[in-house]
Amino acid sequence: MTNKAANKTAKFKNNNLLEIKNIIELCKINNIKITKRRETIIKAILDLNSNHQHPDTEEIYFHTKKDDESASIATVYRFLAELDEKKIIEKHNFDNNKARYEFSSNSNHHDHLIDIESGEIIEFFNQEIENLKIKIASDYGYKLVDHRLDLKCIKIKK
Ligand SMILES: [Zn+2]
Repeated sequence: MTNKAANKTAKFKNNNLLEIKNIIELCKINNIKITKRRETIIKAILDLNSNHQHPDTEEIYFHTKKDDESASIATVYRFLAELDEKKIIEKHNFDNNKARYEFSSNSNHHDHLIDIESGEIIEFFNQEIENLKIKIASDYGYKLVDHRLDLKCIKIKK
């Protein structure tokens, strides 16, 4: 796919307008201040997520800079910390060192398969697993409210 190369130069697609609105709304409910710059950071993250990427702070910073040259990494750090504290963003720890971020909503729930050698992350959804998670919780007398599943794998060499 030539998609990747095109993305490096193009500005954000911003075809996530509804999601942007939802996240801004969530921030307001949680008393997180929204500025024009923070809006650009949200857009940058959504843009990377829509490409099945799970960016770390630096990647979010560099992507934000494409639209807002004077953004600083400190601003990105601070905002991510606030979003994480209020559970508006999902903070992943796939490779046990760098935190990686993803906005999650019920509509895009998925699990991850992580290639621990290459660091590649594959998103998948399996209805049987989803049903099983609900059943396990319910068997113990609980209602499932949140869940994640990370499969750590190495590629089978042929
Ligand atoms: Zn994901």
